[in-house]
Amino acid sequence: MSLDNTQSIVEDSPITSELIQKYEKLFTLTPEKMRSIVDAFVETLKRGLEQYGQVVPMIPAFVFGWPTGEETGDYLALDLGGTNLRVCLVTLSGGGKFDIKQKKYRLTEEQKQMEGSLLFDFCADSLSAFLESAQAEGTIKAGAELPMGFTFSYPCQQDRIDHGILIRWTKGFGNPNVEGFDVTQLFADSLKKHNVPVSLTALVNDTTGALIASHYTNPRTRIGVILGTGCNAAYAERVGNIPKMKDLGIPDDTLMSINCEWGAFDSFEHKHLPRTKYDEIIDLTSNKPHEQAFEKCISGRYLGEIFRLVMKELIDEGVIFLGKDTSKLNEEYCFDTAYLSTMESDMTPELLTIVSVFSQHYKIETTLAERQFFKALANLIGTRSARLASCGMAAIVKKLDILDEGCSIGIDGSLYDMYPGFKERIHEGLTDIFGEKGKNVVTHHAEDGSGLGSAIIAAMTKTRKDKGFFTNL
Ligand code: ADP
Ligand code: MG
Repeated sequence: MSLDNTQSIVEDSPITSELIQKYEKLFTLTPEKMRSIVDAFVETLKRGLEQYGQVVPMIPAFVFGWPTGEETGDYLALDLGGTNLRVCLVTLSGGGKFDIKQKKYRLTEEQKQMEGSLLFDFCADSLSAFLESAQAEGTIKAGAELPMGFTFSYPCQQDRIDHGILIRWTKGFGNPNVEGFDVTQLFADSLKKHNVPVSLTALVNDTTGALIASHYTNPRTRIGVILGTGCNAAYAERVGNIPKMKDLGIPDDTLMSINCEWGAFDSFEHKHLPRTKYDEIIDLTSNKPHEQAFEKCISGRYLGEIFRLVMKELIDEGVIFLGKDTSKLNEEYCFDTAYLSTMESDMTPELLTIVSVFSQHYKIETTLAERQFFKALANLIGTRSARLASCGMAAIVKKLDILDEGCSIGIDGSLYDMYPGFKERIHEGLTDIFGEKGKNVVTHHAEDGSGLGSAIIAAMTKTRKDKGFFTNL
């Protein structure tokens, strides 16, 4: 933990160097530990390809091959993420070029729990309002029925591209009457109720969207990753390497996108990840105990909560905020992961941005020693997240056996995009795992990946629709 010039302050503060070392020890991942996680991860990926119903389900996404870059036309994309709903109008102009117009709506905690049909009504309503204003501006012709990709970032069992049954909610969602149902049907019902003129062409996971969108603009892309509210990855696998699909008669050399749903790695068993007691509290108090073990250590929904739980412990032990009213920190999930970014970015000697995080949002005055500790703690939690994410990426690289040739990984989501130094920490993790060869794997921001990818997949689907059961084969 880098407390640099803080030693003198630490001396007359309850924040001792032993205390700091304790957290350092809890959150630091050694290269050896990372390599053992990668090995277990590779086995887990293989198991998911072999059999249905595995913890990491390796879901065939029924997106075949890569885009040519020459897909063209206007498409709608509706992206139901874990924090935001985005409605996009995507114009593909060929040559890997595109234009996106989008509107973003923040989802409330209430919307994440209300009756499922109401959630889809909200999606249909937002789409309808977006279409009306696009028609008023003249960007869409009135009466035109545009093809739409629906980016739905939760594990769905698919047997074709425009259909998918929700296996389980993740990322804190719990809307009744959606698990076990076909979400495209639920959404289509809402669209019909609201008279929204679109044809739902493709159901796409955000990771598959990021994979395909990244490949459209950068053909060296082999893996798509999401680091936002949740954490997940997709990559393209030869059908011949997916034993559980062997009876479908798809040629072995066909490439199929696989939505790994890797957030579930180490769920239930809890054998491989170095979980702290804060991770356990988050898990057991979540609406899905024991599930999504990997995601809960990494993604934007949880990092702020891990930080808050450490603060709560230190408040109870009388180490921080002595004599202060800390009641505003009592509410679960009240500490946004974005504050960890803010704290890590604060380069002022007095850490004045951190002063305002606590004074403005929680009405707490902080000491300099506390602020220095918080900055270092944010660094530990953020670094563990990035290094664990790099373990998952390394596992796919190893599974594909592409370390020597190298590849690019397209990553979308606010954590990757906005957390200072996150990308560098991932790359450092890859080098710790693979040595110098780790540098053959690079990452890039899959900008608007979820929405753009969904539109491209809708386009791929449309052009291949006449080719039989596998809608976009
Ligand atoms: P979604 O998951 O809905 O697609 P995003 O990719 O924007 O949306 O991710 C939202 C998550 O990113 C939230 O958990 C939020 O806490 C986190 N986040 C937002 N801004 C930042 C930031 N500046 N630094 C780190 N995390 C952030
Ligand atoms: Mg997203």
